[in-house]
Amino acid sequence: MEARQEKPYDVIIIGGGPAGMTAGLYASRAKLRTLLIESGLFGGQMTTTELIENFPGFPQGVSGEELSRLMEEQAKRFGMETISDEVTEVSLERDLKRVKTYGGEYLCRALIICTGTEYRRLGVPGEEEFRGRGVSYCATCDGAFFKDSRIVVVGGGDSALTEALFLTKFVKELTIIHRRDALRATKIYQERALNHPKIRFLWNSVVQEIKGDNVVRSVVVKDVKSGEVREVETEGAFLFVGLVPRTQFLKGLVLQDESGYIITDEKCETSVKGIFAAGDCRKKLLRQISTSVGDGATAAFAAEKYLEEG
Ligand code: NAP
Repeated sequence: MEARQEKPYDVIIIGGGPAGMTAGLYASRAKLRTLLIESGLFGGQMTTTELIENFPGFPQGVSGEELSRLMEEQAKRFGMETISDEVTEVSLERDLKRVKTYGGEYLCRALIICTGTEYRRLGVPGEEEFRGRGVSYCATCDGAFFKDSRIVVVGGGDSALTEALFLTKFVKELTIIHRRDALRATKIYQERALNHPKIRFLWNSVVQEIKGDNVVRSVVVKDVKSGEVREVETEGAFLFVGLVPRTQFLKGLVLQDESGYIITDEKCETSVKGIFAAGDCRKKLLRQISTSVGDGATAAFAAEKYLEEG
């Protein structure tokens, strides 16, 4: 259903990942007039995940694309309105919240922020220059371009290992470059990667530069223990060195931690009454689809209570 702004929405949700879609389902099913604003694809980071093994209800796993499609269909079933646009600013107007996008402005009584995270940049020379020409942050988007090639993956967390394991379908050889000698990733991914015949590891090593001509040709790697610097030939560099919350547009409106994650209470309510946060953009212990879904339900229920009381 397309957005129509005649009077303030009861609830506006920013972001259409698992948290946003669940918040939308709960809010619209509670008969609240709800608008969801999404700048990309419904499903968020799920859409670029090949196989999800840890979301209950799918014993054989489910593709990210399929789970996104199912959640979107369910979220829209109860009349939630949606627009495709990017939010640039949120401000307060008496007890209402004003949400500005590139294309318009919308008022609401309760706001739920579900903007998730994006991949952190490594911040080395060559990273921006070769983006899309060998530097990538998405294995499912770009993996097929690296058929039978030699590539490096940077990072030691769940993203680096799951994406590396996916990339082994295409590549001839893959080197995971990690700055320590122990991985941060979940044990099951560690076991799979450590035992994979196509994967080797470069431990205690950091990438200092990405070099090439038209495309990536090598990475300059420093051994942090010995100090030795050498060039490793590669046709691609997939960078998975963590995530940063997509909360810059809030410009400090609600309380955030030093990394920009939104601080909430157990109701998912932020430091501003009537503004809630759910999913990966919220400061919390575990960032998974299942915890985002829980957050989305909590935030929408708490928003409903806030509107009843207000
Ligand atoms: P992460 O857990 O923060 O891991 C980032 C990795 O990059 C770490 O190994 C870190 O090294 C390394 N790193 C950070 N900055 C670096 C730098 N400047 N240079 C070199 N290496 C650097 O991030 P993530 O792997 O993207 O995962 C984020 C969240 O999503 C986690 O909660 C994760 O569990 C979740 N996730 C889950 C799944 C799944 O369950 N299937 C899949 C993907 C992501 P150190 O270890 O030394 O800090």
